[in-house]
Amino acid sequence: MIRILTPFIYKKVNRISPSQLYGVLKCPFKMVLAEAYHHKPLVALSPNAYFGSVLHTIIELITNRTIVDLPTFEHYWKELIMKKDNELINEGLDELVPIKAHIKNVGLKKIQLQWLINNKSTYSRPSAGYSNRYRSEMSLFDNTGRIFGKADLVYEGIDYIEIYDFKTGNILKQIFNEGSDITYLIKEEYEYQLKLYAYLYFQMKGRSPDKLSLISLDKKKIEIPFDIGECESLYHKAINILEELNSHSQNGNFKKLAHCAEDNCKFCVYRPACVHYTDWMENNKLVTNDICGTLLSFKVFPNGNTCAYISEGFNTRVISGFNQKHEGSFNSRLNKKLVFFNIQKDKNSTNLIATNTTTVYEY
Ligand code: SF4
Repeated sequence: MIRILTPFIYKKVNRISPSQLYGVLKCPFKMVLAEAYHHKPLVALSPNAYFGSVLHTIIELITNRTIVDLPTFEHYWKELIMKKDNELINEGLDELVPIKAHIKNVGLKKIQLQWLINNKSTYSRPSAGYSNRYRSEMSLFDNTGRIFGKADLVYEGIDYIEIYDFKTGNILKQIFNEGSDITYLIKEEYEYQLKLYAYLYFQMKGRSPDKLSLISLDKKKIEIPFDIGECESLYHKAINILEELNSHSQNGNFKKLAHCAEDNCKFCVYRPACVHYTDWMENNKLVTNDICGTLLSFKVFPNGNTCAYISEGFNTRVISGFNQKHEGSFNSRLNKKLVFFNIQKDKNSTNLIATNTTTVYEY
């Protein structure tokens, strides 16, 4: 439950992938930390993120025809979920096991995946017999080797190319306009990813794809409009940011790369290692879901409830909801500086509650 961070050791970032580009542009330091910590998240993710990786692997197995019917589906469904549970236990995240118990509508997600087995028209052009022209997990890279990624699925016909990416969460984001209007837009990170795939494909094959499509589990297929000039500009942005982040890093100028802001940091999985974020938190208390303070005491009440009392500047904060089994771990750290990541706040922010993804670091 309480972790100690291994020291940050800078490693040069040799390449970035299309799926990372949007995040790297938002905060290049995130990529530096990702490389230093072997791309292993330093905080627990949401159960949906862990389960999403299982769903995505199943989609890959459907598209590469390893899963061809319901019995093979059932076999991999059970096997991959069991594997994920074991991984979570090995990472000390046993409170998230069994992962299925933490996911809403598991049955529906299962049916949606099964539907994909026999309904390839979701991701294919109607009325064409070309099943052997699909390439799943197609590697796409530029001529310098610095931008590299794998597209979930590419259809390569004689006169038609389409690149697909499957998403297990929402593809669209809601924008609230004046009045009560809501507009739905494709998430920018997905647009960046697919447009960069398009340019990599163009560099490799000398031909632009005809269509870029996102496919969600609920059978939505959404086309991303693009022109290849715009994709090329994104590619140059990717190369420039890679050069810039390595140049600043080699001069030890990490501060220049760290773009602290609520939107960037709130879900950054490397924030425990980001000193710039810890400094930023000082003036932005409880803006994100993290809190830093000195542990004053840890109490277990007769009814089994638990509370950690911490001093944060002049305030004493109380965080409830820990598992009793962590009592010894907390009590051995009295008067130590701890940072609690992924804390739930109530509306007025006075009550703080630990969740099953709360991760605590001793500094
Ligand atoms: S915590 Fe914020 S500033 Fe630090 S690496 Fe993550 S996104 Fe960047």
